Amino acid sequence: MQPTIRHRWAGGLVFGQVLALFLACVSGYQVRAAVPTSEKPNILFVFTDDHASHAISAYGSKINRTPNIDRLASEGMLFRNCFCTNSICAPSRAVVLTGKHSHVNGVIHNGITFDGDQQTFPKLLRHAGYQTAIIGKWHLQSEPTGFDHWQVLIGQGPYYNPPFLTPDGKIEVTGYTTDIITDLALDWLKSGRDKSKPFMLMYQHKAPHRNWQPGPDHLNMYDDVTIPEPVTLFDDWANRNSGCQEQEMTIAEHLSPHDLKLVPQVELNDEQRVAWDAAYGPKNEAFEKAGLTGDDLVRWKYQRYIKDYLRCVASVDDNLGRVLQYLDETGLADNTVVVYSSDQGFYLGDHGWYDKRWMYEVSLRMPLIVRWPGKIKPETVNTDLVQNLDFAATFLELAGCEVPADMQGQSIVPLLQGRTPPDWRKSIYYRYYEYPAVHMVPKHYGVRTDRYKLIHYFERNEWELFDLEKDPKEMRSVYADPAYAEQVVELKRELEHLREKYQDNQPL
Ligand code: CA
Repeated sequence: MQPTIRHRWAGGLVFGQVLALFLACVSGYQVRAAVPTSEKPNILFVFTDDHASHAISAYGSKINRTPNIDRLASEGMLFRNCFCTNSICAPSRAVVLTGKHSHVNGVIHNGITFDGDQQTFPKLLRHAGYQTAIIGKWHLQSEPTGFDHWQVLIGQGPYYNPPFLTPDGKIEVTGYTTDIITDLALDWLKSGRDKSKPFMLMYQHKAPHRNWQPGPDHLNMYDDVTIPEPVTLFDDWANRNSGCQEQEMTIAEHLSPHDLKLVPQVELNDEQRVAWDAAYGPKNEAFEKAGLTGDDLVRWKYQRYIKDYLRCVASVDDNLGRVLQYLDETGLADNTVVVYSSDQGFYLGDHGWYDKRWMYEVSLRMPLIVRWPGKIKPETVNTDLVQNLDFAATFLELAGCEVPADMQGQSIVPLLQGRTPPDWRKSIYYRYYEYPAVHMVPKHYGVRTDRYKLIHYFERNEWELFDLEKDPKEMRSVYADPAYAEQVVELKRELEHLREKYQDNQPL
């Protein structure tokens, strides 16, 4: 007698389970059971722009409080050693989408258009039954691909009254961009999505990117306080590579009148900004005429800069609170993995700078906090070396999908569950490409381990070695110190190994 279709299917399931058990028993082969769609977790990826972890109180900020981001840390896991592969906006975003280094995904610097035909994790999640959406900053020039729904800022996007690109054309929205991105995300969560499917939402802010225009709710925050200065605000960059003396990202000289809100706040592209700043001139002369000079002037500019930066962060945190509250009220929180991160770190006066780009700790480090109710032990801290390179593989594993072999990152799901695999990476690879360009940070590449960092500025053949245990602020390269000769040899070997592993054949 022919079995019914139902019986055939049931028989197939039993056979599959027996085979999986057999393979697991005889070979240690990992067979991942298919996760029923209804049990797959939703993924909410909260991604900000230029939010340094030392402006998050869960990371020990001495300059601000971020209660909603902190809440994620107290209910989830905070990563102390998450690093980007290339400390600049568009490249970091392309690495997140592809799980591949810049030289593989093609976006080596901000001027390159992302090839949206390539494999990305949203495409794979969509294929696996997820509904995928991105709302907010995209910054990759090509149209988003792999999303059921998208509403993205054009380029950097303005802080006020932002136009958005959508599959149906451009829409204009009035208000403060951080609030609006949240409104749009909540609208989609409430009434836009298909509630029969798990979702993956990339909720991505422009803030707190330059030029740090605060929202209406925070215009006067910090008016009556003095924000503590970083201890390296007056760094002279001795004992480091020659590029430190040549960069153009100092609080002292390079914040523009536009940045400092000394001129009307119109939105400018890079070309207009140069013309605008040239027209208004370097303002130090004007300050000097008014009697504000030297270190006092740097301090004044630092306060002006950091207060606006932190006001923008405050808006991000408030708005995250709105989203977390929505997840609570709807019961979605229980089955939603919430990830908070930002595309790179940022100098908050550290080394006398603003901006990013360098492989130094402040700009290399990314915040990464993950809440996954019932799976991550609350208030845990991880110190393994992880990267934005790992995000794509992580999201795929969360969704029960296979991670394609050509992805270069590793899923951090085992770390989230408190199990660091014995073969977890012991070093990370970094490479920065954008030179000559704004801020004039020379090209470099390097390796970081838990204790050491070796950097090669290859176009000027200069090396730096930092002992992060003895010199966490990276104030003195010990590359030429004979006491570190052995580490130099080992790290150079490791650097070559990483270049081979990640197939970085770009010329040096
Ligand atoms: Ca950025």
